[in-house]
Amino acid sequence: MDESKRSHIMSMIKSKGTKPEMLVRRYLFAHGFRYRVNVRTLPGTPDIVLRKYRTAIFVHGCFWHGHDCGDFRPPKTRVEFWTAKISRNRERDLQARERLRQLGWRTMVIWGCQLKPGVREETLAEMVYLLGKALAEKLSAKPPKPYILDDEAQAPRIAAEEALPYPKSHSDKR
Ligand SMILES: [Zn+2]
Repeated sequence: MDESKRSHIMSMIKSKGTKPEMLVRRYLFAHGFRYRVNVRTLPGTPDIVLRKYRTAIFVHGCFWHGHDCGDFRPPKTRVEFWTAKISRNRERDLQARERLRQLGWRTMVIWGCQLKPGVREETLAEMVYLLGKALAEKLSAKPPKPYILDDEAQAPRIAAEEALPYPKSHSDKR
C-alpha cells in the first residue's frame, strides 16, 4: 500500500469519528456519562438516551432537519421536493419530542452548526450543565417511594410520612 492510499484510508476512518453525533457521544463518555444510542423503543429513535437523566438527545444535521441558521441553504433545484421532505422531517421531529415529553422524557436537540470547532466546547459544556440540571430536577420532583400510597388524595401522604420508621429524635415534638 503506498503512502497516499494509506493516508486516504486514514482520513476516511478519521472523518467517520468526527461525525457530529460521534463528537457528542465521545464527550459524554469521556465525562462519565453512560447512554444508549439509536433507541428504537422511544418515539423518534433518539440518537442518545441517558436513562438516569431521563433525557433523550437528538443530534440534527442542519440541512435535513431544516435548522434556521446560516448553514441551511435551500437547494436551488427540485425546490418543492426538498422543501416538502425537510418540512416532513421537521414535523416528525416535533411530534417525537412532544411524545417523549408526554412520556416524561426531556429532550435536547444539538444542531450540526453548534458542533463546529469554534463553538463545540461551549455547546458540549452546556449540554453537560443541562444534564446536571435535569438530574437534580428529576430527583427533587420524584417523591420518595413510601409516599406513594394513593394517587387521588394528598392526606395519605402525610399519614405515610408519619408512619415512616424514623428514629425517635427526628420526630420529637417540642
Ligand atoms: Zn444549524
